[in-house]
Amino acid sequence: LVSRKNKPENTVVTVAGKEIGGGQPQLVAGPCAVESAEQVDAAAGAVKARGLHFLRGGAFKPRTSPYDFQGLGEEGLRLLKQAGNRHGLAVISEIVDPRDLEMAAGYLDVIQIGARNMQNFELLKEAGRTKKPILLKRGLAATIDEFIHAAEYIMVHGNDQIILCERGIRTYEKATRNTLDITAVPLLKQETHLPVMVDVTHSTGRKDLLVPAAKAALAIGADGVMAEVHPNPKQALSDASQQMNFTEFEHFVNELEKSGLYK
Ligand code: PEP
Ligand code: MN
Repeated sequence: LVSRKNKPENTVVTVAGKEIGGGQPQLVAGPCAVESAEQVDAAAGAVKARGLHFLRGGAFKPRTSPYDFQGLGEEGLRLLKQAGNRHGLAVISEIVDPRDLEMAAGYLDVIQIGARNMQNFELLKEAGRTKKPILLKRGLAATIDEFIHAAEYIMVHGNDQIILCERGIRTYEKATRNTLDITAVPLLKQETHLPVMVDVTHSTGRKDLLVPAAKAALAIGADGVMAEVHPNPKQALSDASQQMNFTEFEHFVNELEKSGLYK
C-alpha cells in the first residue's frame, strides 16, 4: 500500500492546515522532553517566533537507563498541547504504548513512533486504527525494507497519513551519535509515496553538524527537518548536549533560509 508502484502521486499529510510533503519543506522543533509548563511554553514561543508551524516535545521518553528521566506522561502531553494552543502550533509527541494512543489523540496533532518502537507491531497496528497522522522513525538498525514494511503495518490497518523520518542508524562510527543515512531520503521517496523527514538532532548528536545535515536533507529532497531546541539546554533533563539554545536555533533557521532551501 505504501509503494509508489501502487500510488504514483505523492501523499501529502495535512496537519492543522499545514502540508507535509506538499512541496514546501517544514521544520519541526522543540525540546527533547516536556519538562514544565514554563519550559515548553518558552520553547514554543521561540519556535513560533521563527515562523515554524510544528512543535515537538517528548512526554513518554524511551530512555536507555531506567534511572534517567522518563518524561511527564499524560501531563506532558497536556502541557505540550497548552503551549501549542497558546502559540498556534501543531504538536507532535512520541507514544510508546498501544493503550495510550486513544488518550494521546486527544492532545496531539501528530503521533510519533520512535526508533526503538519501529517494529513494535502491536503499536503499529493500533496506530493504523487511529485517525491521527503518524510520524514513524526509522529503527536504530532497521534496513530501508524493514522501515517500509513498518509503514505498511500502519497503512494496512487503516491509516494512510504517515510521515517517514530518517534519524540515523547504528554503525561502527563514533564521531556522530548515529550515522545519518542521507540517501535513505531519495530511496524512500522512490519506493514509497509518503513524505520523508530527517531528524538532524538524533542522527548527528552534534550541534555543529545540524546546519550542514539539514541543508543536505533539504537538498536531497526531504519534506521536512526535525531538530531539538530548549530554553536552557545545560539544565535539560534529557539530551542536554545536543539541544540548541534559542540563539543557536535562530542561527540554524537563518542559515537554512540563506541557503534558499527553506523559507
Ligand atoms: C525523539 O525524537 O524524541 C527520539 C527519542 O528519537 P528517536 O526515537 O529517533 O531516538
Ligand atoms: Mn532527544
